Amino acid sequence: MAYSLSDLPYAYDTLEPVIDTQTMQIHHGKHHNAYVTNLNQAVGGLTVPDCVNTLISDLSAIPETKRTAVRNNGGGHANHSLFWPCMAGGASGGGGEPSGELADAIKSVFGSFGAFKEAFATAGATRFGSGWAWLGVGGDGKLCVCSTPNQDNPLMGTAFVDCACKPILGLDVWEHAYYLKYQNRRPDYIAAWWAVVNWSQVAQNYAAAKV
Ligand code: MN
Repeated sequence: MAYSLSDLPYAYDTLEPVIDTQTMQIHHGKHHNAYVTNLNQAVGGLTVPDCVNTLISDLSAIPETKRTAVRNNGGGHANHSLFWPCMAGGASGGGGEPSGELADAIKSVFGSFGAFKEAFATAGATRFGSGWAWLGVGGDGKLCVCSTPNQDNPLMGTAFVDCACKPILGLDVWEHAYYLKYQNRRPDYIAAWWAVVNWSQVAQNYAAAKV
């Protein structure tokens, strides 16, 4: 199998009460697992890179008959693989505010941490249907906020998505990410989610993306 599902970096109940245990079990064990299974099926017989981010960064290299399946399921695998470590709870804690270079960059681009949160929350809340909100590093090295539909990822590039950047933080706004606890109230889920953001992981992602 070319790609595999990693364990979560914490227990299924760690993000309680912001994200409930059952949602995490289904989201990781069923939804993310299905993206990996379907991706492996789609790339069967092809020579593909080990890194799923590399795979989805060059979708035009995939034969047309398999490209949509690789886009959807490769995106699904990549997006969730970024998402899980960007959250934390329990003793290690999540939430608060970033520090250091990431904090400085957010302030320089958005004016303040609060203004960034507002832009990001709006990107997630206004994404029609299923998709993701992103904080990424653009080609100019500057932070940007954007959103994509379905399981698209900004790494796919402008031939496939409106915003091309290297994502360092993503928020899943598919109903499967929040419906059991928040039902139709996506803005409530987004507002609560800030309390589990793992800013030290996002800072590591920023350091890796901006070079
Ligand atoms: Mn999801």
